[in-house]
Amino acid sequence: MDTMKALTVFGPGDARITEVPAPHPHGDMVKIKVVRTGVCATDQAIYTGNCSFVRSGEIVYPVRMGHEYSGIVYEVGENVKSFSPGDRVYTDNGVSCGKCRPCLEGRYGDCLAPRSVGTVNCWDGCYAEYMYMPERHVYRIPDSLGFEEAALIEPASISLDAFFGISDGKGETAVIIGTGAIGMACAWIAKYLGYGKVAVVGRSPKKLDVALRIGADTVINSRECDVVESIKGMTDGRGAAHIIESSGDGTALVNAIRSAAKDGRVSMLGFYEKDLDGIPVDQIVLNRITMRGGAGRFGNPSKVAEIMSKNTVPLTPVITHRIKFEDCLDIFKNEKAYHDSKIKAMVCFD
Ligand SMILES: [Zn+2]
Ligand SMILES: [Zn+2]
Repeated sequence: MDTMKALTVFGPGDARITEVPAPHPHGDMVKIKVVRTGVCATDQAIYTGNCSFVRSGEIVYPVRMGHEYSGIVYEVGENVKSFSPGDRVYTDNGVSCGKCRPCLEGRYGDCLAPRSVGTVNCWDGCYAEYMYMPERHVYRIPDSLGFEEAALIEPASISLDAFFGISDGKGETAVIIGTGAIGMACAWIAKYLGYGKVAVVGRSPKKLDVALRIGADTVINSRECDVVESIKGMTDGRGAAHIIESSGDGTALVNAIRSAAKDGRVSMLGFYEKDLDGIPVDQIVLNRITMRGGAGRFGNPSKVAEIMSKNTVPLTPVITHRIKFEDCLDIFKNEKAYHDSKIKAMVCFD
């Protein structure tokens, strides 16, 4: 039997790269040779076990994690029509059942029995030499994009949820709290959509520098000043029309609510990993603030790929680290050593 190397998390703090059976495509399945895998904060949470989905039983060890990747079609099943070996591809981060009514109607995002790649109800993830996906979830990488950009499509497709229903930023102010890849991609999308002023809030000067390189107009270092005051100061006291909280920190969410303008919108894209107390709900009521969560949705990745190929500002400066697959456990084991400088680490299979 063919085998391949794959990373499995057997329990909190216990992950190893081992030989596992390699997939053999049949029917509508596509076997993809992985080229790049992006390291996500969710992967770190699964590795440590400090993860709400582990506590709720929705993620069960052993986990073959990893959900951000790009690769090359290696082999296809007999019913695959649109892809052949050698095609450069990215995929959805979820796999629909293909059998329920929404699936039969082609509404894969509404599947009644979905599985998530590398996370909840786990479909084997992409810290592996090969991935195995149904054709309906596979997409061709636009010619102008490289494998690293393509591996950023998944996190940016989460970011796109903050702009659901917004096709034009109308020159308004957007403030993004958090300097992870999702926050960065929010700043990058906001500028593309025509927001007038885009500000990014963070603590690491290195990461805030990257924010300026991917299109932010200004940055706020929350270690050096009061975030709410700075945002009010920047908007003549009105507050920002759109605040995107991507850090998953409770205090940051409070700041977001306090610095939103009347009729403003607060988007929440990070997982908080716990229930929160101390949310200023009356501010939400008084200022008619719309609160909206987002974790990506079916259809976002191809929209992001389109933005990526049209946007003259590349998102790739968010890639701060590159590491070989054989060595990638170091990122999880020594997270603290990376924390101040890492935005997105890419695991390289070539
Ligand atoms: Zn992720
Ligand atoms: Zn289904």
